[in-house]
Amino acid sequence: MVVDKENCCGCGACANICPKQCISMKPDEEGFLYPATDREHCVFCGMCEKVCPVIHHTKLKARREEAYAVRHKDNRVRDNSSSGGMFYLLAQHTIASGGLVIGAAFDDDFVLRHKAVSDMDDLMSLLGSKYVQSDTQQIYKLTKESLQSGRQVLFSGTPCQVEALYRYLGKSYDNLTTVDIICHGVPSPLQWERYKQWRTSQRKNTRMVQADFRDKSAGWRHYSLMLRFDNGSIHKGIAYDDPLTKAYRMELCSRPSCYGCPFKGALRMSDITLGDFWGIEKVLRAMDDDRGTSLVILHSEKGANLFRSLEAHMEAAEVDLNEALQYNGAALRPPQPSERRDAYMKDMTVMDFGDLTRKYCSDDCFTACKKLVKKIIKKIIRR
Ligand SMILES: Cc1cc2nc3c(=O)[nH]c(=O)nc-3n(C[C@H](O)[C@H](O)[C@H](O)COP(=O)(O)OP(=O)(O)OC[C@H]3O[C@@H](n4cnc5c(N)ncnc54)[C@H](O)[C@@H]3O)c2cc1C
Repeated sequence: MVVDKENCCGCGACANICPKQCISMKPDEEGFLYPATDREHCVFCGMCEKVCPVIHHTKLKARREEAYAVRHKDNRVRDNSSSGGMFYLLAQHTIASGGLVIGAAFDDDFVLRHKAVSDMDDLMSLLGSKYVQSDTQQIYKLTKESLQSGRQVLFSGTPCQVEALYRYLGKSYDNLTTVDIICHGVPSPLQWERYKQWRTSQRKNTRMVQADFRDKSAGWRHYSLMLRFDNGSIHKGIAYDDPLTKAYRMELCSRPSCYGCPFKGALRMSDITLGDFWGIEKVLRAMDDDRGTSLVILHSEKGANLFRSLEAHMEAAEVDLNEALQYNGAALRPPQPSERRDAYMKDMTVMDFGDLTRKYCSDDCFTACKKLVKKIIKKIIRR
């Protein structure tokens, strides 16, 4: 292990940099990836420590830090994005100029991995938040090679992944733009795997063909987790109620290092930070139609210039950064784990997902009654 296990963010920079390829990322019992070193071939060059963004977390100085509320003008783009579709706009521009866009997408087995895309069809796989930690594989290496070949690159990821990239590169590149997302914390890939198996087993002989963690059919605020299966059936669960996303909200399943995340704050290493503009109805009501508004924070000159060049395609309004962030605690502070987090994660590896949910995520009496009353009222209104 390069850094203490509880602090390792799983960015994978150490595995990318190792000149002897003797570091591989292996899942632990909770399903999170950690570096494993083949000591026999290690030459103790120290590159893995040098590149670690946790050991060498950069103390940042304030730059320009301008904040905007943004909505893509095309509502179809917003419907396919988690918030206001700002990422799509940046990515589309990069692809149109022959560049490469890097972000997190599901593979055919719905395992989340970082990948590079260079055409608009493939770009769709990057859109939308996936509440699971992505496997970065050899993405830092690939990014560096692309930058050295002179190609424009838009790299997106969690704040730790972006900081890992900068440490891996070791120097600045004019042709690189980085985007980090406001990240609450990343849940376990094993939990997602066990949830998928549980949902699929409820539908005999079916295969999942689509997963959307931010389905907006009931609105942006009341988003759902939507899974589509090859027999045409659909599962849709409102985020605060679905067993997977409810456990996330109850702080039962994030990576241990997320609870002490050092990458929080208004100052970031990235050129641009993207988040959901929670609280937009209080900050700027005119920009809220419950279809999604992005919070965009510009940190660098490069990020600001790119943003300005795209203004024709978006509705954008400058806002006060501190006012915007007061509704987005996840941008500033790490989450606090539930006292039951470790027990949940242990049981998650062996228990049926339904039983696990009943044991850890059941509503208390008051919430259960409130939900029942709401359901009855809805039924009466529908008649
Ligand atoms: C795990 C997670 C937690 C988040 N928590 C918050 C929060 O607490 N508050 C908040 O305001 N916003 C949060 N976000 C960010 C937010 O949901 C949107 O991603 C962001 O607003 C960008 O939205 P968009 O409409 O511009 O683009 P979208 O199309 O929604 O954004 C897609 C971008 O997100 C990246 N992405 C998706 N999933 C992952 C992942 N697992 N790991 C790394 N990159 C990923 C894609 O690579 C792509 O760059 C979170 C996102 C994730 C993935």
